[in-house]
Amino acid sequence: MTRDAAIARAEAYFDTGRFRQDLARRVAMPTESQNPERASVLVSYLEDEMKPALEQLGFRCRTLEVGRWPFLFAEREDDPDRPTVFGYGHGDVIRGLDEGWSEGLSPWSLTERGDRWYGRGVVDNKGQHSINIAALTAVLESRGKLGFNAKYLIEMGEEMGSPGLRELCARERDLFRADVLIASDGPRLSASRPTVFLGSRGGVTFDLWIDARKGGHHSGNWGGLLSDPAIQLAHAIASVVGPTGQIRIPEWVPGEIPANVRRVLADCEVESDSDGPAIDPGWGEPGLTPAEKVFGWCSFTVLAYAAGTEDAGERHPAACLGAMPAAFRGRYRLARGAAGSAPPPRPPWFRHRADRPVARRGLPCHPARPGSSLGPMDGRLDRGDNGKEAGHPAQSRRLAAERHLLGNP
Ligand SMILES: [Zn+2]
Repeated sequence: MTRDAAIARAEAYFDTGRFRQDLARRVAMPTESQNPERASVLVSYLEDEMKPALEQLGFRCRTLEVGRWPFLFAEREDDPDRPTVFGYGHGDVIRGLDEGWSEGLSPWSLTERGDRWYGRGVVDNKGQHSINIAALTAVLESRGKLGFNAKYLIEMGEEMGSPGLRELCARERDLFRADVLIASDGPRLSASRPTVFLGSRGGVTFDLWIDARKGGHHSGNWGGLLSDPAIQLAHAIASVVGPTGQIRIPEWVPGEIPANVRRVLADCEVESDSDGPAIDPGWGEPGLTPAEKVFGWCSFTVLAYAAGTEDAGERHPAACLGAMPAAFRGRYRLARGAAGSAPPPRPPWFRHRADRPVARRGLPCHPARPGSSLGPMDGRLDRGDNGKEAGHPAQSRRLAAERHLLGNP
């Protein structure tokens, strides 16, 4: 009955407070991968926390590097005839944002409140890999072997988009060879039912921007004359995604969800926790169930959106000044469903420049100045300045106004 014994050990690990102790120590390490000042903490998490924990279980550990990013690789051989299970986790967390936590809570201190534990990384991903390492421990203590060969990789840059992970996997192809990969990261469907994903949703993040001109200009004097980059980019977004979140670019979505994927998803219910958001039934691809939308399809998200003028790197919203915004920036994310066709790594206008798909979809082809992610601009809206539109009525009116202002009619 080694299975029962292993489960009893795992329960005891939790009940005696040892799991909480281990997790609290790991949470207390501010492993913010987005903060360059934490580089030494990232190394220390691997050297001082992960290595001892895995070495105690008979793993051989080594640190691999790609650029400035450290990766811990651990390996334990049980029986060469048995399959190899590859485990994955990440020890980094997003920024702590200490000021944003409720009274009495801190990102770097595991705190119990009600039936919950608070602290950065508890649910992503220190909790998960701590549980997995504890599970290996419980099995080893119960029967002296795992029954499979184990490999484990812990990266420290996942929250930065896993820099170097792809290169590392290509470089260490033989070292990482395994029969199954178990990556305990990402969402679960329900707290009461274990979730196993057989694929992972990928994402492509990109910025779109138009820097139309320097400074803000009063809409009373310039409205209708100066292009508005915020409006132009709003149209760009509207060409990508409809008013209810449906992606409008056929190449960015799968042609259909395969029948076997539909069958598996039929049994999955997407729940949100008591404090989670309510699902908007009318959002996304019409005709799909919530599980199909999130696991079998692609989605497009605007992560940030700002318009205004920029002084010394500081952005001022233009609207409150009644001024024409000078610049617009947005950050977008395209998520790819498990059954999704591979979306292009970049949106079409990056590949085809501004003249083709953008023009076809009624997007601005001619933002005022060259500073735009939409492609090369010819400056045509910058009336008369480049001589192209000399003779335009606005040009002669402007020249007249200038002469008048200069007292030189
Ligand atoms: Zn994660």
